[in-house]
Amino acid sequence: MPAEEVFVALGSNIGDSATIVEGAFDALERIRDTRVTGRSALYRCAAIGEIPQDDYINAVARLETTLEPLILLLELQAIEHAFYRRRESEQHWGPRTLDLDIILFGNREIDDSHLHVPHPEFQHRRFVLEPMLEIGGDRFLPGYGSLSYLIAQAPALELHKLGQP
Ligand code: ATP
Ligand code: CA
Ligand code: CA
Repeated sequence: MPAEEVFVALGSNIGDSATIVEGAFDALERIRDTRVTGRSALYRCAAIGEIPQDDYINAVARLETTLEPLILLLELQAIEHAFYRRRESEQHWGPRTLDLDIILFGNREIDDSHLHVPHPEFQHRRFVLEPMLEIGGDRFLPGYGSLSYLIAQAPALELHKLGQP
């Protein structure tokens, strides 16, 4: 089966989030039948939603994989678990040690009870769009427009690329 290009968003706001996100990138490298072909910088971003919580560290990875989407989702959930994420004790959009979301999976549209692709909110999230632009360049996303267009339309969010002056 030909490999497909996948974008995965990483986020953390409990613990040493920069180290956790770097560790999660390394864990992505170890998923079977999968290669990491892009790693964005780390970004700091205020949390979305009503729950008061620390800022997030966000990043995006680009993968090439021959895994099926639901199998990749299981692999990502195993990595979340390895970084001490425990969904049973969590609030929706509450703080977490590690969140891994599939943003795009080739050109697929998936509407499964466990997996929606493209991710239903990605076009509104600068902390996903900016790192995607950084590693993948500007591109046209069928049904959405170009990444740079989506960034121009997305709600304002305080987003800082780490390691920048
Ligand atoms: P959001 O999806 O708005 O970013 P969240 O990441 O906080 O919210 P979670 O609690 O991490 O949501 O996940 C809830 C469920 O979402 C997961 O159990 C998973 O089955 C499902 N899900 C649906 N689509 C996706 C996707 N594209 N990537 C990851 N999980 C997804
Ligand atoms: Ca998420
Ligand atoms: Ca998630």
